[in-house]
Amino acid sequence: MSKPFASSGDTAAKTETLEVIGDGIWALTAEGDPNVGAIEGEDFIVAFDALATPPMARRWLEKLRTQTEKPVKYLVLSHYHAVRALGAAAFEAEEIVASAETERLVGERGKEDWDVEFGRMPRLAEGSEEVAGLTWPTKTFEQHYSIDLGGKRGTVELSWLGNGHTSGDIVAYVPAQKVLFAGDLVENGSAVYTGDAYHRDWITTTLDNVAALDAEVLVGGRGRIAQTREECARAIELTRDFIGRLFTTVEKVKNSGGSIKDAYQAARSELLAEYGKMPVFEHAMVFDVQRAWDELNGEPPAIWTVDRDHEVWNRLTS
Ligand SMILES: [Zn+2]
Repeated sequence: MSKPFASSGDTAAKTETLEVIGDGIWALTAEGDPNVGAIEGEDFIVAFDALATPPMARRWLEKLRTQTEKPVKYLVLSHYHAVRALGAAAFEAEEIVASAETERLVGERGKEDWDVEFGRMPRLAEGSEEVAGLTWPTKTFEQHYSIDLGGKRGTVELSWLGNGHTSGDIVAYVPAQKVLFAGDLVENGSAVYTGDAYHRDWITTTLDNVAALDAEVLVGGRGRIAQTREECARAIELTRDFIGRLFTTVEKVKNSGGSIKDAYQAARSELLAEYGKMPVFEHAMVFDVQRAWDELNGEPPAIWTVDRDHEVWNRLTS
């Protein structure tokens, strides 16, 4: 029997839970679906990531409204992926903040990614008819942008720490409480999607830079919230382990003259025992191996289209 394409067979609704993770800092987790967060300023809210559609974002905002009525002034996008960005309209934010590289990627491949992601994860397309267009940042930066929360609340530090899950990912760090929103650069108890990634940079300098922040609470893109310094370090190392073993396995097969299908089977076997039961494992493996293979050929991430998605899926899993 052939595998259901990507996450098209995963249709059961996930339980969404609002978690208080600091003084005026909240996260919404959803059993392996994308996590989002919010940070309270003196007069406003900074929201981190937007979810996939306005109705899904409104559900998150309703939960947040049990905690604070302040308006969302800044909506921060960790990267360009549709499931993070296309719910933006619901926030009615004054500013949408992202890296300059993310803005470039929205222009280059945002529309294709929109089509591809809703095809891969139909569950996350709930209310997608309300998405009026791509989400464009209104404020961008190259490496660093600081938001003053007002009063004695300190700042939110937004940083681009290197190529990783995409070439544009940023993290949001609240130094006063040592809370880090790492986006998809860190997954804690989920398989890791690397279909648009730079594996080598991610598992070396970029994750080193994430670790150097020395966070005591870490919200990754998917999975559990890490609540101690040790758990944060473990989440980072788990992410590094997945990507490192994936990349090394593909490299070994390629260097010994194997095919990409051989590489897919070898990488899947390598990771199955530890990660096979985690969210998006089967989904991610196919796209991850294709991207690892392309990176080993010295190529930048190709644009995923609906046609390319299915072509690669059928070629690797048949
Ligand atoms: Zn992503």
